[in-house]
Amino acid sequence: MVFTLSSPLPVDSSRLRPDVRSLQPQLVQWRRGLHQRPELGFRETLTAGFIAEKLREWDIEHQTGVAQTGIVAVIDGSRPGPVLAIRADMDALPIQEENQVPYRSQHDGLMHACGHDGHVAIALGTAYYLSQHRDHFAGTVKIIFQPAEEGPGGAKPMVEAGVLKNPDVDAIIGLHLWNNLPLGTAGVRTGAMMAAVELFDLTIHGKGGHGAMPHQTIDSIVVASQVVNALQTIVARNLDPLQSGVVTVGSFQAGKARNVIADSATLSGTVRYFDPALTDFFERRFNEIVAGICHSHGATYALDYRKLYPPVVNDGAIANLVRSVAETVIETPAGVVPDCQTMGGEDMSFFLQEVPGCYFFLGSANTDKGLAYPHHHPRFDFDETALGMGVELFVRCVEKFCAR
Ligand SMILES: [Zn+2]
Ligand SMILES: [Zn+2]
Repeated sequence: MVFTLSSPLPVDSSRLRPDVRSLQPQLVQWRRGLHQRPELGFRETLTAGFIAEKLREWDIEHQTGVAQTGIVAVIDGSRPGPVLAIRADMDALPIQEENQVPYRSQHDGLMHACGHDGHVAIALGTAYYLSQHRDHFAGTVKIIFQPAEEGPGGAKPMVEAGVLKNPDVDAIIGLHLWNNLPLGTAGVRTGAMMAAVELFDLTIHGKGGHGAMPHQTIDSIVVASQVVNALQTIVARNLDPLQSGVVTVGSFQAGKARNVIADSATLSGTVRYFDPALTDFFERRFNEIVAGICHSHGATYALDYRKLYPPVVNDGAIANLVRSVAETVIETPAGVVPDCQTMGGEDMSFFLQEVPGCYFFLGSANTDKGLAYPHHHPRFDFDETALGMGVELFVRCVEKFCAR
């Protein structure tokens, strides 16, 4: 389903319980404070310090320094029951902010341009609410503040550090504020909703020489150009047309002078797909194409092909739970978008490989307020009304999952 971002859907604030509605000014204040102090992955020391300070203030049990800058808060309900984890990422991007707002970034060259400042505020609000209403749920809620989502990835080290153990997590949920959807909507999908992210750096070594005497050379630019074109056949000719995938060469560097044949050419790019069964397919075809073309020209190559994040795949039962909760918070049933998918990637996938769960989008664009720039744009900002909705959604998910 495609939404035009002409206007936000109306948000009915009466759907937020009074104790969440009254948190809204705090949520905005926390988010703006975080927005002013963006930090890159694994360097979120001010961010983690702020989170820990709040958790201490509210007497919430927590562990700091998990996978360097991560934090795990543990909130027990009033009786034994299941364990639900809520994940929030907290890192920013190396982008110079162009917004002229009072809360603009004070860290030169760094910006919360993906909304992770909002994710931290929502998770903190949820932690506070749950700590004040322990009689509303059974079992335990673990709130995972994760570093370095934008890279190199903090989810995997957090899993390796045991955040899903002791007590063992039964299910995990998380949300991304999403400017591709208007405020007043949520995107919830069963199965794959975000793509696997793979990266490649390829250097093709030919033999340089005089631009007028190509017969004495192996032209790395000609070889690399054929590789760029042939890589497109992986999606166009090898992949089942009912599947989807992307192969993008984002950088092509070669040559310095118009009359010199370049000795080497370097290509860098990314591969994306949804189906976990394709995990070997792209890498295999990539290697075959590069090897075949280079061999046919007598060129050699060095290929670094890395699998960064697996696809984000939601569990059917947990996605149904989130969907039914979202329908009670979002004004109109049509506001819960069923088949929201993007070729963007997310390391939430590492948690979802370990336990069933659901990652979902919370619409945050508002064209009426000029808040519709895409994620990672120097003028990205979102409608902060979504913060309270995020807390309400998480709290209702806890109450539903931990009702047993
Ligand atoms: Zn991002
Ligand atoms: Zn993000």
